[in-house]
Amino acid sequence: MLSEPWKRRLINFTHPGVGQRFPLGTRLDLPKTVLGRKLRQRKIMTNPFPWLSKFKGEVRRDEIMSLHTSIRVGGPADFFILPKDALDLQTVLKARGDTPLFVLGEGTNLLVKDRGIRGIVISLKESFKAVEPPVFGKTAENKDKAVIRVGAGVKLSYLAKFAARYSLTGIEHLVGIPGSIGGAVTMNAGAEGTEIGPFIKSVTRITPDGEIEVLKGEDITFLYRKAVFPSEGGIVIEAELEFAKGDTKAIHETMNSHLARRSSTQPLTVPNSGSIFKNPPGDKAGRLIEAAGLKGTTFGQAGVSLKHANFIVNKGDASAENVLDLIDHIQKTVEENSGVKLETEIVVVGE
Ligand SMILES: Cc1cc2nc3c(=O)[nH]c(=O)nc-3n(C[C@H](O)[C@H](O)[C@H](O)COP(=O)(O)OP(=O)(O)OC[C@H]3O[C@@H](n4cnc5c(N)ncnc54)[C@H](O)[C@@H]3O)c2cc1C
Repeated sequence: MLSEPWKRRLINFTHPGVGQRFPLGTRLDLPKTVLGRKLRQRKIMTNPFPWLSKFKGEVRRDEIMSLHTSIRVGGPADFFILPKDALDLQTVLKARGDTPLFVLGEGTNLLVKDRGIRGIVISLKESFKAVEPPVFGKTAENKDKAVIRVGAGVKLSYLAKFAARYSLTGIEHLVGIPGSIGGAVTMNAGAEGTEIGPFIKSVTRITPDGEIEVLKGEDITFLYRKAVFPSEGGIVIEAELEFAKGDTKAIHETMNSHLARRSSTQPLTVPNSGSIFKNPPGDKAGRLIEAAGLKGTTFGQAGVSLKHANFIVNKGDASAENVLDLIDHIQKTVEENSGVKLETEIVVVGE
């Protein structure tokens, strides 16, 4: 397997211009022949983003999204913006006008289509990484509790381990979920009967028009793999989570058994995007797919995992089209076999 830097070099070699940082101060125009010599003229590119002068982060053009999704699928995003802080985010949101915008976390629940994403992708992969030490207090019943403030770019697995260090219990069950806090809050990530929603005390967002808003946990409705906010389109930048004090040994044992169970039941060494379908009420999507005889079914390079039937794995250079065709085939076959129409859990974006 090629490492990420080498993949990027290869992509840049075969597709010059792809993944370039933006804006380039100058560019080479088509060569002109003057007195028998080919001369290339340098031209100043007009800066389409006047706000870039006060922006501290990074803007890239035509960034290949397969580099940013755990299933390693996805075409280019027109503009890929890595803000440094909240001010950077506000700058982009206030200036973007009608340009469509998509927020990327760790890309672990995402299928980006082959022609990519038009407009702006905001990536929080390199910012909002702060985790503050817990602030301890007492519940109304005089029990120990603590609140941790955490940035949206922090990984959920890191937060679970961080809380465990202080013997704080609650999200040890979520230690194996690979996304960011921003993604986990938005998707109401959960495992083994525990969801992140009930632990949320507050969420700080940047609204689509660039204002900062702080919502209380009770302002948000946490549904199965979906958080419903009072208004749509905000970017989560921070959350406060409240935990009870627990038993350090038991918390670590739970985390270890979760991680061991995941590595024995999920295809963690092959690119995938987690569970493709939501579990229908009272049943498991994986069981229904297996019962329909679909384990191992392959479309192009996308296949139903032999380890866990609710996972689609990328066996090489699968396209989003392969994955979508396979999803469609699974839905039709399962419905024919059991009468259940499976609903996708992954978020599909792009064109
Ligand atoms: C091997 C594997 C196992 C998994 N197991 C589980 C599991 O047990 N339980 C579970 O619930 N999930 C699981 N997942 C799915 C995934 O990890 C979770 O849904 C996770 O919470 C997604 O976080 P992310 O940062 O990767 O979000 P992304 O995939 O990047 O984005 C998901 C959605 O959240 C939005 N979003 C992301 N960040 C923000 C933000 N800061 N503000 C606003 N919107 C945002 C995106 O726009 C998108 O709509 C698994 C995935 C894999 C690959």
